[in-house]
Amino acid sequence: MSKYELEKKYKDISICEYNNRITRLRKEKMKLMQETQMIQMKIEKVQRYKVEFCEKVLGGHTLREEVESGIYGETFKVCSTCGLEV
Ligand SMILES: [Zn+2]
Repeated sequence: MSKYELEKKYKDISICEYNNRITRLRKEKMKLMQETQMIQMKIEKVQRYKVEFCEKVLGGHTLREEVESGIYGETFKVCSTCGLEV
């Protein structure tokens, strides 16, 4: 569909139709945001299990010191097995 055809098409629809489309899209967005949040929670849960596995089954973290990039360069420790940062 050309830009002209699209503009012509949009002129034919009412404000009510615009509102319906916006409402539909907002609902779709909300649904996807909720799904994204659920997946994020699952990721965090699996990460917690991984850290616990490293600690309890593998016999503890193997921490190495890292220096933060940037002007301040603060140091922190990372487990080279599970990636835990302390
Ligand atoms: Zn670890």
